[in-house]
Amino acid sequence: MEKEKAAAVKADKFKLKQAQLVMTSHTYQSIVNHCKMELPLEACGILSGKNGTICSIWPMKNMDYSEVSFSMSVHDIEKVFHLIEAKQEQLLAIYHSHPTAPAIPSPGDIKYHNYPELSYIIVSLKNRKPDVRAYKIVSKQVSPLVIKQID
Ligand SMILES: [Zn+2]
Repeated sequence: MEKEKAAAVKADKFKLKQAQLVMTSHTYQSIVNHCKMELPLEACGILSGKNGTICSIWPMKNMDYSEVSFSMSVHDIEKVFHLIEAKQEQLLAIYHSHPTAPAIPSPGDIKYHNYPELSYIIVSLKNRKPDVRAYKIVSKQVSPLVIKQID
């Protein structure tokens, strides 16, 4: 029984190590730039792409105008969804920044993220060098993704 459990944990770890989020380096840089531009407020946005690769960024307005939280307007989201469809891309991820906190999901982030199919990207601007991290949040369980940049 214990052995079985250990094997399952090992398999899980292996899976986590393998789980990747692929995005163009241009998109990666655009995300960081948008987050820096919105300081001291939290920035947020939507990411889309093709075949699982993120290649389009849709910076959104943070309706909270807050340094510690974000929300997007339903109207804005619907507009962007139409634009993504027009480009024949898929919605792949949501990003937001943590101006003074590390790049780990806050209890609120976990509570309000109800899109298990979307990756969840957090940009921490706590230190001079931005820290960009990606996660999957499924049933309130957070698992990290490795971000792979391509040209
Ligand atoms: Zn957050």
